[in-house]
Amino acid sequence: MTAIPQERRLVTAVPGPRSLELQARREAVVAAGVASTLPVFAARAGGGILEDVDGNRLIDFGSGIAVTTVGASAEAVVRRATAQLADFTHTCFMVTPYEGYVEVCEKLAELTPGDHAKKSALFNSGAEAVENAVKIARSWTKRQAVVVFDHAYHGRTNLTMALTAKNMPYKNGFGPFAPEIYRVPVAYGYRWPTGPENCGAEASAQAIDQITKQIGAENVAAIIIEPVLGEGGFIEPAKGFLPALARFAKDHGIVFVADEIQSGFCRTGQWFASEDEGLVPDLVTTAKGIAGGLPLAAVTGRAEIMDAAHASGLGGTYGGNPVACAAALGAIETMRELDLVARARRIEEIMKGRLSAMSEKYDVIGDVRGRGAMIAIELVKDRGTKEPDPATTGALAKACHAEGLLVLTCGTYGNVLRFLPPLVIGEDLLNEGLDVLESALAALPGAS
Ligand SMILES: *Cc1c(COP(=O)(O)O)cnc(C)c1O
Repeated sequence: MTAIPQERRLVTAVPGPRSLELQARREAVVAAGVASTLPVFAARAGGGILEDVDGNRLIDFGSGIAVTTVGASAEAVVRRATAQLADFTHTCFMVTPYEGYVEVCEKLAELTPGDHAKKSALFNSGAEAVENAVKIARSWTKRQAVVVFDHAYHGRTNLTMALTAKNMPYKNGFGPFAPEIYRVPVAYGYRWPTGPENCGAEASAQAIDQITKQIGAENVAAIIIEPVLGEGGFIEPAKGFLPALARFAKDHGIVFVADEIQSGFCRTGQWFASEDEGLVPDLVTTAKGIAGGLPLAAVTGRAEIMDAAHASGLGGTYGGNPVACAAALGAIETMRELDLVARARRIEEIMKGRLSAMSEKYDVIGDVRGRGAMIAIELVKDRGTKEPDPATTGALAKACHAEGLLVLTCGTYGNVLRFLPPLVIGEDLLNEGLDVLESALAALPGAS
């Protein structure tokens, strides 16, 4: 673990003077379209703490958006990446290969759901992995249509913007978008008109009916879904929904793609969130948690599907960079050694317990949900109408930031506060972070 003291410490306002100075420099030269949740400039980070350039130590409930699952300076990641840096930084796997790439693909074959023969291809970012999953599915099926869901998030490149549901901030003004993308309902239990009990069956029937009537199953190359939706609001599709769609895909020769970029690698208390309902996706996309913070992404799937693209049809200059592969092997080693699957479950137990108690006290919390260390609260103006409350969500996040707790928001309606701590966070820090949140809730005007 890291040498950074695992304690919250505020020595200036947040952001402090040094961060404000850097923010001014940044505003002169960094494009305005690249925004930051909290403009405190990082100095070092590890375990459950992010230390800024003013010496403030924030409790990290964000993990750089579900990336630093093993912490931001995990010993095995640093050791392996450093050794690799000294040996060579790059050859390009498409020019001369190296062992680390192969070893990461071996680990992916072993860890992802299902015991069929699997192959992988490595890339730099999640969006690139999703794009390549579409290329592979189209090559295999010789079909074009791609089905995605309400509240989906798959990235910011042209194709993945089209796959993503939400206009602002991801798509507005950036069109035209890629064609042959079709969106169908997802089983969002909390907001399903007839209630969460009926949601899985009704939503899957609606989605399948729309695919059949509006596209034609025989035209669909891929169905792509996040087994727990991330940016769209930490929505766990109601039980039965994912298996029904996977069955439909299987019956019609459609490639079923689980986008596990946010939910994968121990985050939800299993190696992959697909395992929760015993799903065996044809393809799985991974990134974020895979390499302890270095840029790496993968598509992993059935060997025959992965082999459908012609030689040199897949790749990229940096895809599967040797330093990123070394870091991934260090991250996976850490996940196994520290049993981070069990850690994620323990985090869920603590968080859900505390958040459920808060929801009994504060009516603004409409729903507490998520799995493992991917937990959220959805905030509403009124529990009856469930009218979203993005203003209070933003105010709560700001209040937490000011007290040294880094939290993120998400959701189609901007009314979800999400918690993604590193899985190596200590229980005392986790509880202290929840104390900060509870104080912020209590301080809301008219808190009941
Ligand atoms: C973050 C994310 C992506 C995009 O990954 P990038 O590395 O930002 O391109 C795609 N899908 C899901 C589910 C994500 O959470």
